[in-house]
Amino acid sequence: MAAGDCDLTTVSIAAIAGEAPIGDPTRCDPLTGLGDRRRFEELVAGSNVTERVPDLTLVLVDLDRFRQVNDTLGSGAGDELLVFAAERIRQCAGAHELLRIGGDEFAVLCLDGVGTRPDELAERLVEVLSRPFLVAGQQVDVGAHIGIAAGEVADDLLRHAELALGDAKQGTVGTVRTFDMAMEERAQARRGLEVRLRRALALRQLSLHYQPQVRPDGSLVGFEALLRWRNDVDGEVPPTVFIPVAEEIGEIHAIGAWVIRHACVEAAGWPGHLRVAVNVSPIQFERSGLARIVDDALAASGLDPSRLEIEITENAILDHAEETGRTLAQLQERGVGIALDDFGTGYSSLSQLADFPFTTIKIDQSFVQAPPSERTRSLVDAILYLGRRLGMETIAEGVETEQQAQDLIEAGCDELQGYLFARPMPAEDVSAFIVEQTRQQRAGHGGDR
Ligand code: C2E
Ligand code: MG
Ligand code: MG
Repeated sequence: MAAGDCDLTTVSIAAIAGEAPIGDPTRCDPLTGLGDRRRFEELVAGSNVTERVPDLTLVLVDLDRFRQVNDTLGSGAGDELLVFAAERIRQCAGAHELLRIGGDEFAVLCLDGVGTRPDELAERLVEVLSRPFLVAGQQVDVGAHIGIAAGEVADDLLRHAELALGDAKQGTVGTVRTFDMAMEERAQARRGLEVRLRRALALRQLSLHYQPQVRPDGSLVGFEALLRWRNDVDGEVPPTVFIPVAEEIGEIHAIGAWVIRHACVEAAGWPGHLRVAVNVSPIQFERSGLARIVDDALAASGLDPSRLEIEITENAILDHAEETGRTLAQLQERGVGIALDDFGTGYSSLSQLADFPFTTIKIDQSFVQAPPSERTRSLVDAILYLGRRLGMETIAEGVETEQQAQDLIEAGCDELQGYLFARPMPAEDVSAFIVEQTRQQRAGHGGDR
């Protein structure tokens, strides 16, 4: 069968549900020839299916790194990958009904007692999808995450399988999870968090803490602004928990704009040689207008643009390369600094360092805190070398011990940040910190910390 043909052979569920096979091309994914989401909904959500097919198990397959293939090798390669992946899944699925229900999401509907057992099928799928693919003349490693749900209530089937898939995605590639009620409870808790987060800004529950960044001699360069959220229900919620939620529900735009403005206003009250570094989420680059938000914040605060540094992670570039590039160029024109955060942890491409106007590379704390070894030292040396050659400053984050600081300084790192110097502190403590730190510097105790 050619890749574009519509496959009418796998209609087991449809047959049992008394439905016509996929004859309607509007319910068929033209790329893979599989039934599409509408077809899936017809099969599963219809109550007649619930009555007639009580023991249905849904195996949801999500390809890992599909988007990266699409973005780096082009959409033609992405399409090719989907066709090949569909074919591998089809071979494993056997008599079960296979559909493509999202960009890189496939659904296998298994009837109890028919064909391969769903858990065995899932393991097999993980195995075949972990084998390399050859697309656009290149070998790519993809892999998959899988969520499984068995259902008597058809309406819950997809939701449960998606919850299980979401859980699987928290794990490494190849993780398979079967739905259980704890997932439902977590999902409910999460919805509660979403509701509270939507109101957090209006309720003034968000605040910024500031963590110092220092030179090897202990003198202050500036502070990184770090978001904090405390509410009556959850207490203190770490940004690593609520930022992803804010990104998902779109609140990150309002929150992010508030952070930039608030940090600029705060920094404008510090001595003029100190800068403020502000984290910006990849999602904020999706919409144009970030440069204007920065302009407004600079105008409202009177902060010199050179005293602001925007921190972005590698994912921002990967996800929205064009928009990000444009925005970064606009920021560069204004003289705003741009730091590449968590360097070495994302899908780093060295060309990104050359293509985008970074002023600073932030060495991720995983390198800083790794047990000393020749390998980590070499990696850190290589990053520092790159920074020097490209005229970028280097700063190491997560410095906790004197030894780590010494090693980094000896290796030539320009700046350091971490608990060794100070934990992130509320805005009201910053002035006292600056005064004390300046006093120590004057007294020549900078190196003693
Ligand atoms: P990040 O930008 O890489 O920030 C550094 C994180 O490391 C901060 O965690 C900081 O408190 C922590 N840290 C600093 N020194 C040390 C150390 O010596 N040891 C250890 N173990 N940790 C150290 P935090 O504040 O929990 O923030 C976590 C992440 O949340 C940040 O990572 C950043 O990605 C994100 N984030 C925080 N504030 C914002 C924000 O305003 N906007 C956006 N988009 N993301 C933010
Ligand atoms: Mg940061
Ligand atoms: Mg970081």
